[in-house]
Amino acid sequence: DRAPIKRALISVSDKTGLIEAAQALSRMGVELVSTGGTRKAIADAGLPVRDISDLTGFPEMMDGRVKTLHPVVHGGLLGVRDAPEHRRAMDEHGIGGIDLVYVNLYPFESTIAAGADYATAIENIDIGGPAMIRSAAKNHGYVAVCTELADLQEVLAELNASGATSLELRKRLAARAYARTAAYDAAISGWFAKTLGEDYPRRKAFAGELVQTMRYGENPHQSAAFYRFAAPRTGVATATQLQGKELSYNNINDTDAAYELVAEFDPKAGPACAIIKHANPCGVATGKTLAEAYERALACDPTSAFGGIIALNSKLDAATAEKVLEIFTEVVIAPEADEAAVALFRKKKNVRLLVTGGLPDPLAAGETFRSVAGGFLVQARDTAHLTAADLKVVTKRAPTETEIRDMLFAFTIAKHVKSNAIVYAREGQTLGIGAGQMNRKDSARIAALRAADFGLDLKSSACASEAFFPFADGLIQAADAGCTAVIQPGGSVRDEEVIQAADERGLAMVFTGVRVFRH
Ligand code: 5GP
Repeated sequence: DRAPIKRALISVSDKTGLIEAAQALSRMGVELVSTGGTRKAIADAGLPVRDISDLTGFPEMMDGRVKTLHPVVHGGLLGVRDAPEHRRAMDEHGIGGIDLVYVNLYPFESTIAAGADYATAIENIDIGGPAMIRSAAKNHGYVAVCTELADLQEVLAELNASGATSLELRKRLAARAYARTAAYDAAISGWFAKTLGEDYPRRKAFAGELVQTMRYGENPHQSAAFYRFAAPRTGVATATQLQGKELSYNNINDTDAAYELVAEFDPKAGPACAIIKHANPCGVATGKTLAEAYERALACDPTSAFGGIIALNSKLDAATAEKVLEIFTEVVIAPEADEAAVALFRKKKNVRLLVTGGLPDPLAAGETFRSVAGGFLVQARDTAHLTAADLKVVTKRAPTETEIRDMLFAFTIAKHVKSNAIVYAREGQTLGIGAGQMNRKDSARIAALRAADFGLDLKSSACASEAFFPFADGLIQAADAGCTAVIQPGGSVRDEEVIQAADERGLAMVFTGVRVFRH
């Protein structure tokens, strides 16, 4: 099962670390064969290397489109060394075995990310590279295939130890190699669909890169891993962890919910804080300072906040850090953290602290996924973002300026609460959140109960409902709790009844015309 390496084919666009690797192989007596640019780089370093054209008897041609697509190369990669028929063909046609391939591809992904034009993108589709990778991977019984420098380093380590590679390593490399070519083709396909204006083409390929595997998933008996897309949006997938234990599956899920929510609040308008439990907010607030925003968010439901996730829309400072560290928290995420804050966190080294450099863009296009038995659902991100101009007053009383501000704040949060969602808020602070109930009346009741539990008065508050009130009962519940302004999408067949109930109670109510379900 151990395969020595006599000849290696190296053809790389990204030449980082190339010379050191070529040196190491050369020292072990491996014959190097390379394509134009790679050959030149190796030769310039004074190492012996053969040109691929020597083997194929053909020059590289058609702007490099055809360099290695030749039976001498693919026969050398695919030939089964101990199959007599294969051996005979190799001998007859003068095909020497290639035992190691190190190929990284034309940089298609970064080329399109840089906004290249159509022709440039097409020219950056590598054909020979993926072909060699796939040939070598298929013949992993004899050939080691490397698509990243790190792969080659693993091969070198085995060669150093025993002068040969193990079948186990070659299989692992083959699995990675096919994932690489799959991701490459997914990027090409995605780019094509985009140029055609197709969001959801008939066939869609997705590929992610492994960020980490976890000890377990949502529960200890479930395995789990975290993948990141090739061009990730700023957020939990791009975060740097400054301290704390490794993130768990639930941590990542909840941190994402927290950060996406708090990012709705532009830091230019002032600091904001969201505290999340089980992907639902248990308190959200703005404040004159970040510390004040945190305290006001915490006041909404200090019981649930225990063991929660805290997301901040501005730089974590010492004053906020001090407050945050008073109770047990799983994760804190912010765009940045100043040194004094980081120093305070060091004393509680289990608390995970993440920074991302910037905030997620709430308006950025993107997709969200959900698994169903046998498949998955994809939809565009919910980028609904309302301003006062979007609101339609439906009651006799029009809302005051303050009520409008409170309603927009509450509705923005309702967008991030599991349906059915009812949010009471006043002056940039949630006062009661009712989440995930199977009827809206219960959500309204639970939100009011929570407010009462924590001594928060709902008088003159705004109430947001993420979908319409199907009956007047939920609205009456909210009015009885003390709210004076209601924001909801409208659109129920019983809107008239609901509006009448609001008018009878002197409420101001607006319709958004936009529903923000979160199931
Ligand atoms: P070099 O810098 O050595 O001239 O080119 C290296 C690149 O060429 C690698 O990214 C490799 O995947 C790619 N490559 C190797 N053979 C072929 C081929 O036959 N056709 C195309 N289009 N690309 C190739």
